[in-house]
Order: sequence, then C-alpha cells, then structure tokens
Amino acid sequence: MDFTNKTVLVTGGSRGIGKAIALAFATKGATVAVLYRSDQTSADATLAELPGTDHIAIKADVADPEQVKSAVDQAIDALSRLDIVVNNAGIGIYHPLESSSYEDWQAAWQQTIDANLLGPANICFCAAQHMIKNGGGRIVNITSRGAFRGEPTKAAYGASKAGLNSLSQSLAVALAPYNIFVGAVAPGFVNTDLTADRLNGPEGSDIKAQSPFNRVAEPREVAHAVLFLASEGAEFSTGTIIDVNGASYLRS
Ligand code: NAP
Repeated sequence: MDFTNKTVLVTGGSRGIGKAIALAFATKGATVAVLYRSDQTSADATLAELPGTDHIAIKADVADPEQVKSAVDQAIDALSRLDIVVNNAGIGIYHPLESSSYEDWQAAWQQTIDANLLGPANICFCAAQHMIKNGGGRIVNITSRGAFRGEPTKAAYGASKAGLNSLSQSLAVALAPYNIFVGAVAPGFVNTDLTADRLNGPEGSDIKAQSPFNRVAEPREVAHAVLFLASEGAEFSTGTIIDVNGASYLRS
C-alpha cells in the first residue's frame, strides 16, 4: 500500500480514528489535509506528527454545506488535486427515547444527521465533481457496527451510519464509470475520546467482552482497513463495507 504522490482529505483527522488514518496515509507517502471542527490545538499537534511535508489543516464544520464546499476547494487549491477522501468526522449524542424530551429528541436527530450523513453526502458531492474532472479517485466512509446492531440509546447515530452505508453503496455504482471507488469501514468500539467515558465506566468490561479478544479496537486497526480500500488493486471491492469489530458482531 504505497500512497506516494497521493493527496488525501481526512475529515475529523485531528483526533482519534481520523488522526490514525492521517498518520497511516502520511507514513505511506501521501500528503494529507486534516479537517477539524474547532480543536485547533489537536489539529496542529497531529500535523506536527505527520511524516513528510506539505500537510495542511482545514477548519470547517461538515454539518454546514457552505463550509464543506469551501473546505474541499481549499484542499484542492493547497494540494493541487484530491485523490482520496475519507469521511471520518462524526458525533454520537445520547437521546434515550424513554428519558428524552421531544425537543431533545428532535435536536439530537437533527445534529446527528447533519454531521454524520448530510456532511459526508455533501463532501462526496464536492469531491466527486473534482475527481470526475481529474479522471478518478477514492472515497472511504467511516460508518459503524451500530448501523447493523442498532443503537438503543443513540437511535439517530445508528440510523445515520446505516444511511452512510447506503450512500456508499449508491455512490459506488453511480461513480464507477468515472473511475471513482467508494467503500465503507464499520468499526465496533474503538479506543478514542468518543468512547472513553463508557470504556472507563462500569460497563467497560462488558463492552470489551463483546469481542472474543476481550478488548476494543485501536484506531490504527481501523486505519488499516481504510488504506486497503483506498489502495491500488482494491478497485473491484468498491461498494464493500469492511467490519472492524473483533468478531463482536457477525453478519453475512
Ligand atoms: P472523536 O475522537 O470524537 O474525534 C472526532 C473528530 O471529528 C474530531 O477531529 C472532531 O474535530 C471531528 N468532528 C466532529 N464533528 C465534526 C464536524 N461537525 N465537522 C468537522 N469535524 C468534526 O471520534 P472517533 O472516535 O475518532 O470517531 C471517528 C469516526 O468513527 C466517527 O464517525 C465515529 O462515528 C466513527 N466510529 C467511532 C467508533 C468508536 O468507538 N470510537 C466506533 C464506530 C464508529 P474537533 O475535535 O475539532 O471537534
């Protein structure tokens, strides 16, 4: 998996899984644009850790269609072209049906769908316009085991990730004639800020025991699957959803 001379945009690349993806691509020779929402300190720290030169950080909220367009334009201007896009940025808001107000329920759905589904859809649109003109590209979307297994306390999250799986499959078909390959990676629990409270809390050991390895994934293990889907030779795997869940949820 050699990404020398390739350019990559990683949304949510400043922390957690996105940071591991940015590091993995840079280690294999790519130039990376790290998109983050607000935490510039983490974005700067990630940039400083990336091997190679010319990496950039871009501040944008993927839930805002105008900011998405300008972030993709910025990445193309700075990197000359965009070969690979990874839609990794995402949020998970707790809104258990039995204890949420109707207002909280609606707000959680709106924010989650805006960030986790409409954001990636708009990034895909803007990036694909460029990739079509450029003769091709690769898009990898980070979804979740929750799309298949359900998310009882974060129903909007599960639905957003199921939608993102479906978006990936639709675009794999629609964009194949343009030499653009689209895949998804669906992690189970991963050791990041998003899950830290639950992993360190009373349910932590039960969560780890969901996998026969009795642990959760490390971000670099998700990155490995992303690099595979974006690599030369993986073209015929377009439309695939790769599970990275340590056999904690099996489907066929
Ligand atoms: P994380 O540690 O919370 O990091 C989230 C990253 O996304 C940060 O870089 C954050 O930027 C950025 N971000 C969040 N909302 C954004 C927005 N509206 N616009 C732009 N950037 C935004 O998350 P993670 O655990 O690495 O998760 C990454 C992805 O994997 C998510 O899509 C998540 O749903 C998925 N996933 C995670 C797990 C898990 O167990 N961790 C499991 C399955 C799937 P700022 O810091 O600047 O806000």
